[in-house]
Amino acid sequence: MEEARQAARKFGQYFKMRHNQHGREDWVNIQWKPATIQHTFQRDGVSCGVFVMQMAKSVVEEFPRIPQIVKINPTKKQMCQYRGQMALDILRGSVLRDEYCSVCGLRDLPQSKKTCVWIQCERCQRWFHLECLKIAIPAKDVQWFCVLCLNPADSQA
Ligand SMILES: [Zn+2]
Ligand SMILES: [Zn+2]
Repeated sequence: MEEARQAARKFGQYFKMRHNQHGREDWVNIQWKPATIQHTFQRDGVSCGVFVMQMAKSVVEEFPRIPQIVKINPTKKQMCQYRGQMALDILRGSVLRDEYCSVCGLRDLPQSKKTCVWIQCERCQRWFHLECLKIAIPAKDVQWFCVLCLNPADSQA
């Protein structure tokens, strides 16, 4: 609870500073209160980011109500599914830029001795390094669609 109290105080200080420096009015008059949310515990040593993102997602989805408990299925299989879903969400929210790979965000693969092989999605026109997708070069007469176009957002709800 003491850490939550400190965090609440720092939030208040941050928004006051933002108000003073940049004149932003939003969130400056909120009374930040410390609280704790019960949550499922992580089972492995590598899924902290997945847990944090899932917890943040529950809070945002229930806003302005604060969830009392956040349940996350901590199995390896579910962690894998969360990772895949988050990758799709991030990719879907990304800005489409012609000269950059939509997975790694780079033009050229760093320290790669191989020549970069690029592929463009027939539908959304995003470009990808084949190496980032870990796929082989598709046959010449085959139309290729990226993971976003194969998993449209409206079919996932
Ligand atoms: Zn790439
Ligand atoms: Zn696409």
